[in-house]
Amino acid sequence: MKDFIFTIDVESFSFETNNYDDKVIHRLENDAMPKLLSLLHKFEIKATFFYTASYLKISKDSFFEVINQGHEIASHGWDHTECYDKMSLNEQVNFLKKSKDTVEELANKKIYSFRAPFLRINFDTIKALEITGFKIDSSVASKRFDFMFTTGALKKLALLSAPSGSYIPSRHNPYKNGNSDILEVPVSAYIWSLTGTHLRISEYPTKLLAMYLISQKKINPQVFLLHPNELLAFTKKKTFRRGNIFQDNIRHWIKMKDLGGEAITKLESFIEGIKNDVKFNSLYNYYKLQKSE
Ligand SMILES: [Zn+2]
Repeated sequence: MKDFIFTIDVESFSFETNNYDDKVIHRLENDAMPKLLSLLHKFEIKATFFYTASYLKISKDSFFEVINQGHEIASHGWDHTECYDKMSLNEQVNFLKKSKDTVEELANKKIYSFRAPFLRINFDTIKALEITGFKIDSSVASKRFDFMFTTGALKKLALLSAPSGSYIPSRHNPYKNGNSDILEVPVSAYIWSLTGTHLRISEYPTKLLAMYLISQKKINPQVFLLHPNELLAFTKKKTFRRGNIFQDNIRHWIKMKDLGGEAITKLESFIEGIKNDVKFNSLYNYYKLQKSE
């Protein structure tokens, strides 16, 4: 049976301002995270939660609840403004080390999985992960084709040639097979990617993609990326300008669709649709299964 991994990026992004906002953390903690955790509990799903260390400085409530419910805790870097693709090897090692130490100290156990903010990594990232003792990276979205919508687009062209299932990447190129100590577990994609955003803005194509990927016996596992802030109901306010008009307006408008209750309904219906065809797992449990084979 196919392995299906829900990965959740816990960060302080606000759809309301299209920017990072620590105020959103309390709403996530009191509203989105409890709803998400009860949905996962209902379907007996163990997921992987990537936290930024800066989020945990504001609140740790959901973090401890996530641990109590048996999910995997993982690192989403120190702060979501970091761009690992712009950093030297040493800079990456420093950020990874202090993020990992912070999360491990709080969790009182080791962590193994990493996802870069914005999925932005470079040819030194795998080596930096090895040096800092990570075992799993999930920062690649293979065969993804959304460069109109995201920043760092040209570099993402490399993603088109990356393998689709999990693989051992080269120490010098995260998008190619090699013999590093890291297991790369890409976010599933085939032009369209398996994300909460896509499920909200276009429910049926995303369900079709999931069914297609599940039917591909050789591609394992399937990885879904979800942001809990999508489960909060927002109203559009002033937009923070960050890039061009296309990114600022159209992208923001699209991203606002069906936030809150609608997003939870769609997520539940998505899980109902696949639950009999997949085995839900966390990244680390999947990694251990691969090692024991
Ligand atoms: Zn993120």
